[in-house]
Amino acid sequence: MKRLSIGIDLDGVVFRTLDKVLERYNALHGTKYVSDQVKTWNTHEWIGGDASIYDLFLDPQTFIDLPMNDHATEVLERLDKRHDVYIVTDTHYSCLETRMGELYRIFPPDRFLFMEHRKIFVGKFKELLMLDVLLDDKPANIMRFKERGYGKPIIYDWVLNRNVQDVDRVYSWLEFEQRMIQMEGSD
Ligand SMILES: [Mg+2]
Repeated sequence: MKRLSIGIDLDGVVFRTLDKVLERYNALHGTKYVSDQVKTWNTHEWIGGDASIYDLFLDPQTFIDLPMNDHATEVLERLDKRHDVYIVTDTHYSCLETRMGELYRIFPPDRFLFMEHRKIFVGKFKELLMLDVLLDDKPANIMRFKERGYGKPIIYDWVLNRNVQDVDRVYSWLEFEQRMIQMEGSD
């Protein structure tokens, strides 16, 4: 079996951050936007041009009790035992303390090696890491990692990233786990 270095993005991959942001925005403005209506990375273009929505992406409150993608925790726990799992996130500094608290709560270090060993990288240029795999939902991250040519980019599907083609795409955590089982068995 090949042991893989796997980089895992948080927002949009582990957490359904956009759902939470839209839920908060809707509560403030009496609107009913849902994430499938957001068809590119520029969220404001799909909610009538209101760029104030980006304030919610920078508000620590948003990062408390974020909804999670199905099976994210169980698949991460299994992958963490077989491979080197790293968290790679571009979390804004204003939200880092809240985020780290939530990570320790959701992924306790006695169960998750990536927390016990703090295998957590914060920053924008994920392609600088020598990862065999990067799972991310942001088109720019996926394209930079692909161009770097070191590892395999896998995009976590959202309507907003369907413009990205020629990149492996998964629609669920269980599907991602199957990809990793395929990769660990092949050279
Ligand atoms: Mg993301």
